[in-house]
Amino acid sequence: MKQARIVVVGSINMDMIAHARRLPLPGETLPGEDFEMAPGGKGANQAVAAARLGAAVSFVSRVGTRVHGRALIAALRAEGVEAAQVIEDDAALPGIAVIMVGREGGENSIVYIPGSNAALAPADIQQARTALQQAQVVVGQLEVPQAAVLEAFRIAREHGVWTLLNAAPALTVDPALLALTDSLVVNETEAAQLAGLADAIASPEATARTAAEVLRARGLPCVLVTLGAQGVLIADASGLRLVPAPRVQAVDTVGAGDTFVGGVATALAEGRTLDEAVRLGQAAAAIAVSRVGVQSAMPRRDELGAEFA
Ligand code: ATP
Repeated sequence: MKQARIVVVGSINMDMIAHARRLPLPGETLPGEDFEMAPGGKGANQAVAAARLGAAVSFVSRVGTRVHGRALIAALRAEGVEAAQVIEDDAALPGIAVIMVGREGGENSIVYIPGSNAALAPADIQQARTALQQAQVVVGQLEVPQAAVLEAFRIAREHGVWTLLNAAPALTVDPALLALTDSLVVNETEAAQLAGLADAIASPEATARTAAEVLRARGLPCVLVTLGAQGVLIADASGLRLVPAPRVQAVDTVGAGDTFVGGVATALAEGRTLDEAVRLGQAAAAIAVSRVGVQSAMPRRDELGAEFA
């Protein structure tokens, strides 16, 4: 297999997580039990997932360095992600999620500050033009302005580079962006929302099938709908098919979708078929959900076994 070259355009955040027995009431101070900081953001997660699976990954983003931004960039580089196209903004905050987790009720409360993610602009994408042209696959999500992803996909399309849009979080997607998308990856909720379905269909799989058909009819060549432990529904010119997920004992499913996207992008860039790419993405996600953590739980290529060597 040839080495995959991927560009990921997207968000990067620092997650700051305080654990306590329960969530505090407004105005209350509670003793905490633990604290951790971990890099996140869909863009950065997908970049790390692909790098761990052996792709040469260039990350295109904007990172405020007022707090923690330099640590975020250093963490990306430590994972082998090329960060030359990351614009540092000394005046801005990076994306930050302040998360409180209440152990007894298993609930959480989150304040999310988009920070510099919200400022990624088409002009920032232009400086990454060479990297975009040289990739086999360009990946985008919706935690940064759609105009920035659109610009990246426009350059990719001009040069015959495959575009993969993970339309998450679920929002209204600019039809111009969908028109430049070769593969769309969504979970079942996002699929239903994008397809404009009321959620009264019998089962998640039935919802996914109907939504995938609606989205295909709008001209998308390939739609992948993730269904958690059930697997992934593929819709393309060959029809609809469900690829079951490997059975594992899941302990932490946060970031499953990002690991899957990183795996699919890597496999497509290596020249594998869509069905192989879905299997590889699912093999990676199954390992990630069987371990605690997000980026730290993502597998390296040699963990996927001989089928994907
Ligand atoms: P998240 O937002 O938590 O990253 P998501 O909603 O985008 O997740 P899911 O559909 O939950 O995405 O999961 C993506 C893929 O990860 C699934 O299609 C499947 O391959 C794998 N996966 C998720 N949960 C499990 C599980 N319990 N067992 C095996 N594989 C899983």
